[in-house]
Amino acid sequence: MNFELSERLNQLPPYLFAEIDKAKRRLRAEGKDLIDLGVGDPDQPTPPHIIEALYRAAKDPANHAYALDFGMPELRDAIAGWYRDRFGVELDPATEVLPLLGTKEGIAHVPLAFVNPGETVLVPDPGYPVYASGTIFAGGVPVRMPLKEENGFLADLDAIDDEVVSRARLLFLNYPNNPTAAVCELGYFEKAAAFAKKHGIILCHDAAYTELAFDGFRPPSFLEAPGAKEVGIEFHSLSKTYNMTGWRVGFAVGNPEVIQGLSKVKSNIDSGIFQAVQKAGVAALTGPQDFRERLLETYRRRRDTLVDGLNGLGWKVEKPRATFYVWCPVPDGSGSAEFAKRLLEESGVVATPGVGLGPSGEGYIRMALTRPEEEIRTALERLAKLKLG
Ligand SMILES: *Cc1c(COP(=O)(O)O)cnc(C)c1O
Repeated sequence: MNFELSERLNQLPPYLFAEIDKAKRRLRAEGKDLIDLGVGDPDQPTPPHIIEALYRAAKDPANHAYALDFGMPELRDAIAGWYRDRFGVELDPATEVLPLLGTKEGIAHVPLAFVNPGETVLVPDPGYPVYASGTIFAGGVPVRMPLKEENGFLADLDAIDDEVVSRARLLFLNYPNNPTAAVCELGYFEKAAAFAKKHGIILCHDAAYTELAFDGFRPPSFLEAPGAKEVGIEFHSLSKTYNMTGWRVGFAVGNPEVIQGLSKVKSNIDSGIFQAVQKAGVAALTGPQDFRERLLETYRRRRDTLVDGLNGLGWKVEKPRATFYVWCPVPDGSGSAEFAKRLLEESGVVATPGVGLGPSGEGYIRMALTRPEEEIRTALERLAKLKLG
């Protein structure tokens, strides 16, 4: 049989990591000891009190049925309480909070609620690939906003073509940013909210990394900006905040019409989050938060080791103020895919080529601080032997 893929799937941007994935598999099969700084998945376990809450809830038959699409009231209350404590933002748990099967799920589905075929969606470049793929699945057209070093990797909203702006339905932003590790101040969100209001665009802010910041910096929420709730929503995830990537629980908060649109899509696709996982989410959001101080200290030490080490080798790398990524300009000016392949083949170090996350990522590689410090030191020893062309 010859089953043709749908046009939608064929329209997805090419997957640029295939060659690196292949080389990775081959080197692993050859028994080579690889240090994988490629994946943004925490290496630390989920805190024990959260696991305990899941275990207790999993044993209760009341949790074995279909969950409510809109999430348990208990979880929605916990989310609203967490936003109040952390950001001073008031949310109505009944209408302004929507639990998700992970942030990725909500990001992928929100264009289905608001984008018609041919309409445009503004996406950061480089960026988390789901902003563009979710848009394409809805028949929309992603328009890239280049994140440039000279602008501190903030999307320059004033530079977007008027014609494009007039056709845009959604705008995705993400600070602290994956992959550039850039952060923004509240003033940037205020400008973005005003821009969205002026042009009638729904702003979707991905806040996956607000809790992973260093040196006393507290990243703001988009919803702290005056008028933000009139124009958009914010996605947050328990994945990076509580080391819960595999559990699949996140949420969207903000504008009730946007929340309702997204919820309508979801009620036709999924049937809610396993209630035991929702209870674990409540335990995460309302329980002790002291594990985070240790977690951040671990990431900070790894960050300092990696960035100081690379700069010692003559690379020119900035210390990120947030996220667990280091965004490195390719030190010898070669292409990012080519350089990442050399790192892998010659040093056994896996990094993500920037170009794989969008054309404006060319010239950079991303390294994740999700491996122990000893491995980062070993990676540096190996990189010291790499001859830069
Ligand atoms: C990890 C990540 C997410 C995914 O979060 P989940 O809740 O695990 O789906 C979303 N956005 C960005 C930018 C991420 O890096």
